[in-house]
Amino acid sequence: MIARVTLEIALRKEFDYLIPDGLVGQIDVGSRVQVPFGARKVLGCVTGLAQTSEHSRLKPILKVIGAQTLVTPKVLKLARWIADYYCCPPEIALKSVLPEVVRKEQAGWRERLYVRALPFAGELPKLPKRQQEVWNIVEERRELPLRELLELAQTTAATVRRLEDRGLVAISAEISERDPYAREHIVPTSPLPLNPAQAAALAKIHSALEQSSRNGDARAGTHSSVFLLHGVTGSGKTEVYLQAISRALELGKGAIVLVPEISLTPQTVERFKARFSSGPLRTLVAVLHSHLSAGERHDEWHKIRQGRARIVIGARSAIFAPVDPLGLIIVDEEHEHTYKQEETPRYHARDVAIMRGRMENATVVLGSATPSLESYYNCRKGKYTLLELPDRIDDRKMPYVRVVDMRQCVRGSHGVPIFSPRLKEAITQRLERGEQTILFLNRRGYSSSLQCPLCGFVAECPNCSLSLTYHRPDQKLRCHICGHQEPVPAVCPNEKCRNPAIRYAGLGTQKVEETLGKLFPDARITRMDADTMKRKEDYRRILSDFRAGKIDILVGTQMIAKGLHFPNVTLVGIIYADMALHQPDFRAAERTFQLLTQVAGRAGRGDVEGEVFVQSFTPYHPAIQYARRHDYPGFYEQESEFRRQLNYPPYARVALLTLRGRNEDKVKFSADHVRAALEKVEKELRGKTELIIAGPAAAPLLRAETYYRYQIMLRTPRMSVLSRRLAELTETIALPEDVLLSVDIDPADLG
Ligand code: ADP
Ligand code: ZN
Repeated sequence: MIARVTLEIALRKEFDYLIPDGLVGQIDVGSRVQVPFGARKVLGCVTGLAQTSEHSRLKPILKVIGAQTLVTPKVLKLARWIADYYCCPPEIALKSVLPEVVRKEQAGWRERLYVRALPFAGELPKLPKRQQEVWNIVEERRELPLRELLELAQTTAATVRRLEDRGLVAISAEISERDPYAREHIVPTSPLPLNPAQAAALAKIHSALEQSSRNGDARAGTHSSVFLLHGVTGSGKTEVYLQAISRALELGKGAIVLVPEISLTPQTVERFKARFSSGPLRTLVAVLHSHLSAGERHDEWHKIRQGRARIVIGARSAIFAPVDPLGLIIVDEEHEHTYKQEETPRYHARDVAIMRGRMENATVVLGSATPSLESYYNCRKGKYTLLELPDRIDDRKMPYVRVVDMRQCVRGSHGVPIFSPRLKEAITQRLERGEQTILFLNRRGYSSSLQCPLCGFVAECPNCSLSLTYHRPDQKLRCHICGHQEPVPAVCPNEKCRNPAIRYAGLGTQKVEETLGKLFPDARITRMDADTMKRKEDYRRILSDFRAGKIDILVGTQMIAKGLHFPNVTLVGIIYADMALHQPDFRAAERTFQLLTQVAGRAGRGDVEGEVFVQSFTPYHPAIQYARRHDYPGFYEQESEFRRQLNYPPYARVALLTLRGRNEDKVKFSADHVRAALEKVEKELRGKTELIIAGPAAAPLLRAETYYRYQIMLRTPRMSVLSRRLAELTETIALPEDVLLSVDIDPADLG
């Protein structure tokens, strides 16, 4: 037998190896193996089996690593698709489907040996110094991983073995799992009686689950089962997810729930754990997100692989969780851009979810209050089934949204105030009534730039084409792209000027917080943004203080925009709604609409009706006006017409080619060279599909982290055809060594 192996070293191809007699029966698709490669031994993954090979003199596989295959053939197939569609080498796609800690685990569980102190009678024998040191640690900790012990004691396993020989400790492979939520007390919940809209949506999902269960794997891919659950904020989407998962479990299948990283609050996780913590459908719920320690991630992954956790909730990469058989995939807040990975492989987890659902015959439910134009368009085309929850639970009203025209608030030489008089008054009222307020501004720091009013000097990042943001607490100027920081100058740095009166322009959350403190000295105000959330517990602590009513006003960036459910919040203020509108991106209006709707959705989730103030300098912009009226279909109609006219998604797919290098001219010339090659591709594709080439043009952020960037934007209705050509092109085109070309299929960020 021959095994096809994808090696971990990047080579963009598979290699054939012999399966030696001793390993027959131990190797399957997905097995991790060690193979000879030249003079080296390298790790790889078996990606196929064959009877014959076109190569002669094959070398044998050296050994198999781990007892269980790590990647299932199904997930392997998904990795293949990612490599093809997103134009990336297969070994990189393969890496992304397995967490690093699982992949690097060279000998299964061996690294996870535990050392435990054993009870002994009488006196401790006299031990040599080294053994005594080791014993002291074990005695204190009672049980700890062997590796940790070796590190702490600076010794080798042999010393520990001696203690084992003396009967003082036991070394075993038993696994004591690290549960990141272990200290929480979980109160079981049972299904809520649904309202008619929820019941109708659930019934359709149930019947799809049952149908694919009847069809079985054999007919995978034969019918599309994608649903789009469009439900306003607070309409009870999560309850529908929970009951859909119950049905999948009853049918003997597992489920994956994707949530944007920012929504992975303990609050969300708790709701899922609580529902499945008891009763006949009892199962572990595994949690996967970027803040887990390597050990935690390892344990969560194996819980899933062993079938003990049949529900997985997690961010983007949880879509690769080895749930088998898989019945249901839920993508909550499907419009979120955090589902797009911004490094190779640049996959979009929602689209991977749909592909995985098709391959494994699993039902896919996309949920959102503000669906992406792409998904809604697919419903209009009949590709997806639209399910709607138009009202909030218990007929709670949608918050009343008032748009404040900030142009009318300009006061002579003082410029624009941060708070319009109406918003100020609304905050005062909430403080008097003991209700809570959320204020949103999508920029951290104090001021967005430092300027000299005399000579016009602006403090810019030395590495990026961006002005530096002033951070008041530690008196630093910071670049929000590369992290560069420098002290605040006392006088204008321009040698000829040296003006002592430099001015700070623009607004950040720190300034909002400070101004609030002056206006409302008695209010308890807390700020929540990347600067105040340094440690893992910060987020949880602030949210629980807010829930407990220890905070009156919460100021924050997009961190507070989504998913939070606080019944006592009756006022939401959006300080500067235009910020997202002015991005150089065809999705700017869509993002603004989504952001306003999501932020507004935080208000009025309890018994008291909510109110939202949107401060804007362009109050009549459609994105703002449709959001004010909670009119998604209206927004969709007008925005999709704009996209249709300009041939943007959802009417075409986009690929963004970026060239970067430190020498701007070289980058420009290279970009022209790539354009010429693309024109050839365009000619070849004529008759097969359309290809529109735009650029090269300087990227909106021309210089980032010392690199100049030029872009070419491609648009085509058939991306899979183009992808293949792009993969060839990027491999063969000759570019200067210091100019890098990257391809982003379906980019979320055009920056
Ligand atoms: P969404 O995810 O659509 O924003 P949630 O699922 O968070 O909404 O629901 C909002 C609130 O309504 C939650 O507190 C939830 O427990 C409650 N809820 C959901 N469905 C029902 C129902 N059928 N009956 C009563 N309460 C419900
Ligand atoms: Zn910078």
